[in-house]
Amino acid sequence: MHEPTLLDLTLDELAEQLATLGCPRYRAEQIWRAAFVDLVSGYDAMSTLPRNLRTRLEAALPFTPCEVGQEQVSPDGATSKTLLRLADGETVEVVSMEYAGRATACVSSQIGCAIGCPFCATGQAGFVRNLSSGEIVAQTLHVARTLQSRGRRLSNVVYMGMGEPLANVDAVLRSIRLLNDPRGFGLGARAFTVSTAGVVPGMDRLANQPLQINLAVSLHAGDDPLRSVLVPLNRKYPLEVLIAACQRYLARTHRRISFEIALVAGLNDRPHHARAVAARLSGLLCHVNLIPANPIPERLDWQRSSAAAVDAYAQVLIAAGIPTTVRDSRGAEIAAGCGQLRARSRQAPTP
Ligand code: SAH
Ligand code: SF4
Repeated sequence: MHEPTLLDLTLDELAEQLATLGCPRYRAEQIWRAAFVDLVSGYDAMSTLPRNLRTRLEAALPFTPCEVGQEQVSPDGATSKTLLRLADGETVEVVSMEYAGRATACVSSQIGCAIGCPFCATGQAGFVRNLSSGEIVAQTLHVARTLQSRGRRLSNVVYMGMGEPLANVDAVLRSIRLLNDPRGFGLGARAFTVSTAGVVPGMDRLANQPLQINLAVSLHAGDDPLRSVLVPLNRKYPLEVLIAACQRYLARTHRRISFEIALVAGLNDRPHHARAVAARLSGLLCHVNLIPANPIPERLDWQRSSAAAVDAYAQVLIAAGIPTTVRDSRGAEIAAGCGQLRARSRQAPTP
């Protein structure tokens, strides 16, 4: 069982825990602000707290569930990937991407992934465990701190790192609520995007809760035989079931869904593949993002689509009235691109 840390607790839960240490509520507010507004990285830096309280807190409620490890920065400096070491010795990767008017954290929701899409490095590593809400919050705060030191503010959080967020929906939703709380980090709900390979019960959970977060669905193909190869979960939730879940989501939220399509040369990037996708998405309030697939060592026979094939694919969708953009895949030089994150071998647990 994961030991809760400060980054797992809501303000009210923190106040309750501090009450057991004999602290008044304003202490909880002070600590919460230091962690989520001033972005300090430990109790040590909370100079307004009496020293003996800091020591007692260290023992009763660890500040963070992880230690910051190696960081790699892309040659243009706009993308960085950091390895975080968790208390049980597992590691997780988080990516920071800076653009002209915004800066995005791409966070992981699991160590490894059980879905096993053959074009994704995370999927090849198998499933290890779910991340806790605190482990997800810690990734986001790490990126926010790095950006702050560069004079930037975090504007978006995308759950597109390692793992399937809707297979760990409780921790994912809790992490969003923690980061959304206006008394703390205060990132607007619309700044969050949860990406799913099509976990239908999780999509229904998302549809039925009040937060106005964005949903991205990794589609990759518009016919079942091909999609079942690319996303093995399609055998459990085939396209008809998946699209019906999208319709329920839209009826409930009226929020446009993004569909992600990673294009592999010759495999799913031909005009007839685009026509199959267009037919599936017809009439849905949606947007398509095309991503030329990043190569992974396990599938060297699968190469990314050419720019011409991606453009031709986009033209088919646009002609069918489906808003479509070609996304630049960031960070491939440092293996931080979509699908390139992987679980490392276990290391000795930190004391
Ligand atoms: N498990 C979730 C979220 C993490 S993957 C999901 O699958 O949606 C985030 C995105 O990266 C998904 O759209 C996924 O299909 C895409 N992706 C995975 N491997 C990729 C690769 N090699 N090249 C490009 N995109 C990839
Ligand atoms: Fe898992 Fe998403 Fe990778 Fe598929 S693409 S293996 S669902 S992380």
